[in-house]
Amino acid sequence: MLKIYNTATRKIENFKPLGEVVKIYTCGPTVYNYAHIGNLTAYIYWDLLVRTLKLNHYKVKRVLNLTDVGHLVSDADEGEDKLEKGAEREGRTVWEVAETYIKKFKEDYKALELTEPEVWARATDYIEEDEKAVNLMTNNGFTYETSDGIYFDTAKFEHYADFARLDLGGLQAGARVGFSNEKRNVSDFAVWKFIHEGEKHAMRWDYLGRPGYPGWHLECSTIIHKELGEPIDIHTGGIDHIPIHHTNEIAETYAAYGHDLSRYWMHCNFIMIDGEKVSKSLGNVYTLADLSKRGFSAIDYKMWVLSGHYQGTRNFTFESLEAAKTRRLGWRNRIAECYQGIEASSETIKDFDFSEMMEAVNNNLNSAEAFAMIDNTRLKLDDWKKIDELFGLKLVADAPNLNDEVNEKMLAREKARAEKDFETADKIRDELIQKGVTINDTPNGPVWQYI
Ligand code: AMP
Ligand code: ZN
Repeated sequence: MLKIYNTATRKIENFKPLGEVVKIYTCGPTVYNYAHIGNLTAYIYWDLLVRTLKLNHYKVKRVLNLTDVGHLVSDADEGEDKLEKGAEREGRTVWEVAETYIKKFKEDYKALELTEPEVWARATDYIEEDEKAVNLMTNNGFTYETSDGIYFDTAKFEHYADFARLDLGGLQAGARVGFSNEKRNVSDFAVWKFIHEGEKHAMRWDYLGRPGYPGWHLECSTIIHKELGEPIDIHTGGIDHIPIHHTNEIAETYAAYGHDLSRYWMHCNFIMIDGEKVSKSLGNVYTLADLSKRGFSAIDYKMWVLSGHYQGTRNFTFESLEAAKTRRLGWRNRIAECYQGIEASSETIKDFDFSEMMEAVNNNLNSAEAFAMIDNTRLKLDDWKKIDELFGLKLVADAPNLNDEVNEKMLAREKARAEKDFETADKIRDELIQKGVTINDTPNGPVWQYI
């Protein structure tokens, strides 16, 4: 039985799907720049969620959105639009910027061996649905117009504060003087923004007789409505989404369609880097390409992420990434031992039991405990294959069976050594190194390992 922490109730709950297919929505990236390793953690954790559900025999339909419009630098409908900012930085159109970073994101996604969502949803493909939703919210009495756009009147949704346990009175009192003299409540937010004469905003659609673009939160509500139908089973995101983005998605869905948005909500925590926040000024905004330059693969990073918990406060350091890589390479060589029929000899080591591993991940995705089980048990090749199915680590794919080839060379090397033909023996050793393999001479004879 899968148990997950539900942000909506602040409790660990037994997971029960609403229907035959588990409907999941994952808030995706804003595609205005490369994803940094902090951004990528979410997709690694939710990949584990999907794989765990599938191994529990559930059918899954997941939608992941790509925000290619209307996400302002601040969550509070202020500041520049991230896409426009990206276009300015690169001297290209917003469409080119979105195209480039969608491609990059998908490359990272693939390198991390993440399960493809059933639907990749681009925000700009849902503008018609956005307009229909604004009409519905307006007809249902939830919006008002300002000179800046159509705003959601959060006072009209009586449960607005519930999800994030917001202190609306405190928020109102703490609002900056003149935060926007047209907004009725400090928590009100734009569902549609107008573009004024002379304003630079390349992405624009005509609606209500003037150019504009949707407010950021709206895309998630309308994509879910169109692709999945609410309520969905699980909605995922980062903890920063709780007080504004997800709170507003819930409000919009209720106001437009009269429904609850999701049965369960899961949020992952932020990672720190060397004890600091990820920030440009600290120069610690690492991408997968940066890690690769330092000799770490995407899967090494995935190993690091899964060695902790999605709700934990994690501190990334290159030493801890090195430890994750060493662990992966150690596991890889244990697969080589499987090919060679070498078993961990100690009587005290237990045989691996996949059902125990499933128990660990079914316990709110405790991959750290599952990893410790791998370290401390005796595994067969089939066990490693199951581990790959659960975590997507490519362990078996990265560990080709070179046994026949290596054995032949090892025998030739032994023969050369017996004949004191050290030149040939060294040549064979070099050939094996070329193949990524070394030979260790043990009391039980030579054993090959990946380098
Ligand atoms: P940004 O591009 O910085 O707005 O980040 C997009 C999303 O990535 C945020 O809404 C977070 O959910 C997630 N994110 C950003 N920084 C981190 C971090 N350090 N650790 C985990 N997730 C992060
Ligand atoms: Zn969202």
